[in-house]
Amino acid sequence: MSLEIVWQMLQRSHADVGSFRITGEEIRGPCPVHGGDNLTAWSYNARLGIWRCWTHGCQDVYGSSVSGLARALNVEVPSGVKVDIVVPNVNKLDPYARRWNLQYDHPYLQQRGWDADTCRWFEIGVVEDRHNQECVAFTVYDLDGVHVGYTKRAIRYQGSGSKWRHTDGLRTGWLLYGSQFLTDLNWLILTESPWDCLYLLRHGVRNVVATFGASLTYGQRQIVERLGIKRLVVAWDRDEAGVRAAQRLRKVWFRDLVVLTPCFEPYKDADELPSWAVSYLFEEWI
Ligand SMILES: [Zn+2]
Repeated sequence: MSLEIVWQMLQRSHADVGSFRITGEEIRGPCPVHGGDNLTAWSYNARLGIWRCWTHGCQDVYGSSVSGLARALNVEVPSGVKVDIVVPNVNKLDPYARRWNLQYDHPYLQQRGWDADTCRWFEIGVVEDRHNQECVAFTVYDLDGVHVGYTKRAIRYQGSGSKWRHTDGLRTGWLLYGSQFLTDLNWLILTESPWDCLYLLRHGVRNVVATFGASLTYGQRQIVERLGIKRLVVAWDRDEAGVRAAQRLRKVWFRDLVVLTPCFEPYKDADELPSWAVSYLFEEWI
């Protein structure tokens, strides 16, 4: 694919083309996807026809082809570019992913209001990780209802490294936590963490899933489109990142869907809401 086509896409995406350089068969510049000012963070190789973001790996989310770049920049795929069809293959992961021995009856869970029966029903429980740290593990299924692994969070999180850890190879970008509890597809409520998702489910709200963070990956967006969801309720955390990501969803990705963002203030996360507020805010979706 020629350099000119990619150059035009950069221009169309309102990237500052003045900071990009062409050398031989490569364009180099700041990453037009995540932004930033590192002038060598991003490159496109015309011979290979692929792009890379060397600092954030943005190509992993959108695909490293030219049509992946078009998706990432939210510009039309130029004519003549082969549109790649991405097929999610989470099933290939490991349909018989090893089951963990979850401890359903644990003081930490009880203290959070989760008795053993409820934990068993939702398949969450305490496990010890390889550093003998106690974690709450959440069982993850794909859209076909196949058990694919776990996501877990240390009970005594020390504030260094990532709070959430997934089992090796779990492709969270192609999964929605809680999809096994979907009852119909008229609407979908997106929350950030499995805790938020389960909290709303326990309060009788239906069709809630968690996106493993305040953003929808390319794969998760494909799932939403494929499921034929008409109304999307975004209940990500009401912090700056969550609010901004929800706006982007409404304005850029799902312009033909009804995208609602319930206002939680003064609460920040869905799982902090008192139960009266859950029924009030999600009344329509219960
Ligand atoms: Zn990037």
